[in-house]
Amino acid sequence: MNKSEKDFDVIVIGGGAAGLSAALWCDELGLSALLLEKENEFGGQLRRVYNRIENHLGVETENGREMSEIFVRQTEKRSFAKRLKACVSFVDLERKSIILQTGEEYTARALIVATGVRRRRLGIENEEAFLEKGIIDSGKKNAEPAREKNVLIVGGGDAALENALILAETARKVFLVHRRKDFRGRAEFLEKVRVHPKIETFTGFIVRRLIGKEFISEIEIENLQTGKLRRVPAEILLIRIGVEPNTELLRGQISLDAEGYIKIDGNCETSLKMVFAAGDAANPASPTVSSAVGMGATAAKAIYASLNSGL
Ligand SMILES: Cc1cc2nc3c(=O)[nH]c(=O)nc-3n(C[C@H](O)[C@H](O)[C@H](O)COP(=O)(O)OP(=O)(O)OC[C@H]3O[C@@H](n4cnc5c(N)ncnc54)[C@H](O)[C@@H]3O)c2cc1C
Repeated sequence: MNKSEKDFDVIVIGGGAAGLSAALWCDELGLSALLLEKENEFGGQLRRVYNRIENHLGVETENGREMSEIFVRQTEKRSFAKRLKACVSFVDLERKSIILQTGEEYTARALIVATGVRRRRLGIENEEAFLEKGIIDSGKKNAEPAREKNVLIVGGGDAALENALILAETARKVFLVHRRKDFRGRAEFLEKVRVHPKIETFTGFIVRRLIGKEFISEIEIENLQTGKLRRVPAEILLIRIGVEPNTELLRGQISLDAEGYIKIDGNCETSLKMVFAAGDAANPASPTVSSAVGMGATAAKAIYASLNSGL
C-alpha cells in the first residue's frame, strides 16, 4: 500500500514500546508504516529502566534495556520503514503531515502519536548545568557513585521513597525533600523510610538552589510555611517529582487533558479522525509496558478497519 517514499498509510511518532507495537501491527495488517524516533535507538523509557521487569506477560528481563532489545529484535523482521534520529518538530494533524527537524516532510492517511512521557525537572536556575555533575537519574544505577556521599532526593511518591531506600544502602546520608506534608508512596516503603537511620525527611520543603562550582556541593531548600532557607550538605541530587507527556507538538490541534495527556476513545482515536495515540502519552492511569503494547495494537487495528470500511 506504500504510495511513495514520503507517503504512507500510517506514520507512527515515537519508537518506545507503544510505537514499536503499533508499527509491528501495521505491518501485520498490510498497512505501510513509517516509524519515527528522535533518539539514536528505539526503546524509549525502557532504555533507562534499571530494575527487573517481571510484570509484562510473556517475558521477564533483568532491566528495561534487555526488554527493549527483545522488542527491537522482533520488529527487525518486519518490513515497515523506520528512522532513528528523526525528531518530529511540526505536525499538521488535519493534513496528516509531519515535518522533521531536518526539514523533511512525510504524509500519511493516519497518524499514531506514541511520544511517551519525560521526567519532570525542578525548573530552577542551574539545573541544566549540573546534569551529570551531581544530578543523577537513577538510584539503582548510581548506588556505587553515591557511596559515602550525601544524597538529596526530591519527591514524595513510590519512586522517591524506593530510591531513598536503595541509595541509603551505600550513601552516607539521604535527605528526602517533599513539598507536601504527607508522602504519597506505598506504606511498605514509607514504614522503612521512617525508621531508616540514614534517611532524614523534610516535608513541606522545596529545593530553591543548587550550589557548587563545577559539581554540586550544597543544596538550598525552603520551608514553605516559614519561607526560611536552609543549606543541606548534599553532593548528589535525584529528582522524582513525576512525569509529563511529550505532547507540545499537538497543542491546539486535538483535545488534551489539563496535564497535557492526549484524550482518546476506546479505539485509541483522538478528538480528530484518523489521528490515534498510544502508550504513556495518552494513558496517565496505567503507564505500563503491557498497556503501551496493547494500545499500539488497538490503534493499528482501528486504522485498518477504518481504511478498509469502504471496501
Ligand atoms: C524507572 C521506570 C521503571 C518502570 N518499570 C516498569 C515495570 O516494571 N513494568 C511496566 O510495565 N512498566 C514500567 N515502566 C513504565 C514503562 O517503561 C512505560 O510505560 C513504557 O515504556 C511506555 O512506552 P511508550 O512507548 O508509551 O513511551 P516511551 O517509552 O516514553 O517512548 C516514547 C518515544 O517517543 C520518542 N519521541 C518523543 N517525542 C518525539 C518526537 N517529537 N519525534 C520523534 N520521537 C519522539 C521518545 O524519544 C521515546 O523514544 C517503568 C518506567 C520507568 C521510568
